[in-house]
Amino acid sequence: MSSAPSCRACGSKNTRARGSQRRPSSPLPFIYHACDDCQFLFVEPVTPDSVYDDAYYDGRGVDPMVNYRAEYENYRGTDRLSEFEDLLGLATRHLSRGEAPRGGSDVHWLDFGCGAGGLLKFLRDSAAVETPLGQRQLKVMGSDVGSYSQRLRTEAGFDVRSPEELALLPDGSFDIISAIEVIEHIAEPGPVMRLLARLLKPGGLLLLTTGNLASPMARWRGLKFGYCMPEIHISLFCPATLCRLYGDAGLIPEWVRYRGVITFKVLKSAGSPRRRWLLRHALRLPGFRSFVDLLYGTSAMPCARRP
Ligand SMILES: [Zn+2]
Repeated sequence: MSSAPSCRACGSKNTRARGSQRRPSSPLPFIYHACDDCQFLFVEPVTPDSVYDDAYYDGRGVDPMVNYRAEYENYRGTDRLSEFEDLLGLATRHLSRGEAPRGGSDVHWLDFGCGAGGLLKFLRDSAAVETPLGQRQLKVMGSDVGSYSQRLRTEAGFDVRSPEELALLPDGSFDIISAIEVIEHIAEPGPVMRLLARLLKPGGLLLLTTGNLASPMARWRGLKFGYCMPEIHISLFCPATLCRLYGDAGLIPEWVRYRGVITFKVLKSAGSPRRRWLLRHALRLPGFRSFVDLLYGTSAMPCARRP
């Protein structure tokens, strides 16, 4: 008798085990469950939040690709700067359009899952955005559970709230909410999506990135796809799953074309300085970034706006 769990995204019982992975950090294998109704892929068991300690943020934890310490100390010296500039550009374009929120002169921006605060610092340093209606000041807030959130509050003076504190904020608090590579770390995405949807102003934009499990690379690699890190990536999405999640939360999918976000992903994966140098040059070739985008389905994953 199968004891397949209900889907953690849509609640359907129409799920099946798709495979398992063993990892040195866990005595038990991690099981991937696929939902046949919403295409969500979710991992059991779920690793406790304590995995997000200082070692994790320094790249000595389960994900060697992150180095948030460098980002915390000097984000301008890291490759993530291209990602931050891309996100601010996308937000600025959105704010320049007719359906964007118009109330108030400031742009209230929540970075949900702010990690070591690189994007918060970039936004604070950027200070303002230029829109057809004039210059608007950026007011930033972060939210996270990791070891850096306290440091960002006390050492860097940021307004960083826990998810529980976010839930106490009034409806429509933000023009822009970013959730960059964060939703894959959350066991039940539905309540979080409803919270973010409620906190967006009408016309506000949710800038969300996460791996695309329906991309050509993911289909080719299966559970060997690099994004399958079951200790931390416990919720895995494809465009259809995201669209359904947005719809259930009252949001409308919105597709954007990423550039700097893809540049960062390419350089982050380089490994050695020589490969990084080669990739940096490859990114200048016409079509290379678009090819990577197609392969990994980055821009195929929708963002969302509140109607
Ligand atoms: Zn489902």
